[in-house]
Amino acid sequence: MIVMKFGGTSVEDAKAIRNLTEIVKKELPRKPVVIVSACSGITNQLLQTAALASHGKKEEALNSVAAIESRHKKIVNNLFEGDLQRFLNKHLAVIAEELAALVNGVVVLGELTNRSLDTFAAYGERMSSFIIHHYFESQRLKSFWVDARSFMITDEQYTKAIPQFEITERKLREIVQPKVNNGYVVISQGFIGSTPAGITTTIGRGGSDYSAAIIGALLDAEDIQIWTDVDGILSSDPSVVKDAKKIKVMSFNEAAELAYFGARVLHPETILPAVKKNIPVRVLNSKNPGSSGTLIVSKPKTDKRCIVKSIAYKEGITLISIVSTRMFLATGFLENVFDVFHKYETVVHTVASSEVSVTATIDNTKNLVHIIRELKHFATVTVSDKKAIVCIVGDHLRNSPGLAVKMLGPISDVNINMISQGASEINLSFVIDEEHVDDVVIRLHKELFANAGNFPEIFE
Ligand code: ASP
Ligand code: MG
Repeated sequence: MIVMKFGGTSVEDAKAIRNLTEIVKKELPRKPVVIVSACSGITNQLLQTAALASHGKKEEALNSVAAIESRHKKIVNNLFEGDLQRFLNKHLAVIAEELAALVNGVVVLGELTNRSLDTFAAYGERMSSFIIHHYFESQRLKSFWVDARSFMITDEQYTKAIPQFEITERKLREIVQPKVNNGYVVISQGFIGSTPAGITTTIGRGGSDYSAAIIGALLDAEDIQIWTDVDGILSSDPSVVKDAKKIKVMSFNEAAELAYFGARVLHPETILPAVKKNIPVRVLNSKNPGSSGTLIVSKPKTDKRCIVKSIAYKEGITLISIVSTRMFLATGFLENVFDVFHKYETVVHTVASSEVSVTATIDNTKNLVHIIRELKHFATVTVSDKKAIVCIVGDHLRNSPGLAVKMLGPISDVNINMISQGASEINLSFVIDEEHVDDVVIRLHKELFANAGNFPEIFE
């Protein structure tokens, strides 16, 4: 069994759905469970509809419902004819009525709870998956549509509900597994779930990758495919580095490291259920299905001489230098520093420290004034903004002594504010002025990937 997850742009219109169906057909022998997102933009539109209603803008909210209905009807009218077309249009009209009733409810109450937001948001995946199921059937696939709310059981933290693995596994084995065994293509939704009491929840924006990983992990899939609209994970941001290479295979750790730096890959939490069960995850491009994508596995068997896989960066970084004012009482200094960040819910990206000083980077400056005020009780604090972190990632960095010098040689003319080698030892990060970031990334990439051609099994 495999899980094939298709994101918003892979289900955005009739053409995308036809294309998706061809992709699924090729995998029939491997028993696919297909997990889909809402058509691109629809989740946003549903949430906007709810927001309009909560501001009493009933007319606008109802117009938005009409727009959502007509977007889906357009897809239906393109994919189907005759009775099936009428049936699906009727189905969409019923959903539009339900949404209009929700809008009225919110307008009357003048209140929008997270629980209601989830009810709104869940319609996107419900509609896209239902249309795709019928398209599968019209293409003579043996398809089984299942509402994910029957198996994806979560807690009650609406809009960011946490899936409950034990009960979800039981439900999956009860509801989904037998259909897979009987040769059905099971189609269901990412992103949505329900509480044990049956109230609709969602697991956080962009959550359908996580849904796919959970389903794959709990049903012991051979493979989890994440179909998106890029060729896979690249060696750097292609908008900066024109000849960025596609990475054919990388480790979970490398992918997770990159995700923290905002590279356009799966989020680390998304990958986790798959990592734990050693299930390979492949990122693929539905607009270019011939491309091999990027394979993410726990321990890739690749050439150890290939040290660097990718260079990521993040702008908008603030650097905070904190020097203890009580030189000889440095015990507990680090602890005190981190307590302050923790208290103000501010994530620290990288740190470099000595006994009496710490330099930390953050990108969320919402509580910076409070943080500084409290740090000043026991330290001198200097803050500089408009910084960028550049992060070199590669599994074999850890076995490469003297690497920092070698890596940073090509940019020895650039002022580096801080260097940190991650505890995982697979990343080397440094902080520079934001204005130099493009130039630095381009030059480093040129140097560090000069011999990428020697590793055809890793880069394309
Ligand atoms: N449709 C949801 C969203 O846009 C979930 C997803 O696409 O992953 O956030
Ligand atoms: Mg999406």
